[in-house]
Amino acid sequence: MRMPVIAGNWKLFKKTAEALQLVQELSSLVKDVEDIEIIVAPSFTVLGPVRSLLFDSPISVAGQDCFWEEEGPYTGEVSPNMLIDAGCSHVIIGHSERRQLFDETDEKVNKKIRAAIRAGLTAIFCIGETLQEREADQTFTVLNTQIKKGIENLSPDEMKHVILAYEPVWAIGTGKTATDEQAQESHAFIRRLIAELYSSSLADGIRILYGGSVKPDNIRSLMVQPDIDGALVGGASLTAESFASIIHFRK
Ligand code: PEP
Repeated sequence: MRMPVIAGNWKLFKKTAEALQLVQELSSLVKDVEDIEIIVAPSFTVLGPVRSLLFDSPISVAGQDCFWEEEGPYTGEVSPNMLIDAGCSHVIIGHSERRQLFDETDEKVNKKIRAAIRAGLTAIFCIGETLQEREADQTFTVLNTQIKKGIENLSPDEMKHVILAYEPVWAIGTGKTATDEQAQESHAFIRRLIAELYSSSLADGIRILYGGSVKPDNIRSLMVQPDIDGALVGGASLTAESFASIIHFRK
């Protein structure tokens, strides 16, 4: 049985007071939840305060990115060990906004994933096709390349510290969710590919999240798909009520 994961990506939102209010409200709304892994990914500047507030909570904290070097003359970068020092257990890597706006290539994504795992973090590894690629029937080719390059040279043991997030770029922040069938088809493809690259037992155990305009009213039908193990949520993770009702998808 794969434990579902619901992760909130706060992107470039929430200064300290707003971030603390959000996690305070969220913790009280989800205190009854036991069988779901909950993760929040605030911006770097509020990781420490958010983690301190969550010190006795099961909610985990993730960075939204990290660099692959541990230290050195890399102005503006944050290392995997710095994330651990701030109390993170996870880090999002390869988000489409970073790929599209900040020149993040599959090679950089691979270096970041390897460094994050080496430091002891779990990597939430994002992949997904653009609308143009989907319309050109390239979805599986794109996923195949992103996955093979992103996890190149990762051992089966290291793969236990990877959570995949399928996020079709055309569905992120657009209000346009993939249909349950489109999402399931891609998730099944991803799981088959992991089985081919590693083993069916590793593929059976790996969690694959869906991301792209997930909301309280579409989470349930996504979560009943056999290969969807959770969600990476952007906009709807910015208020405690909507994120908590996504987490309560079984109710
Ligand atoms: C995301 O940022 O990963 C995301 C899926 O955003 P949204 O839920 O707003 O589409």
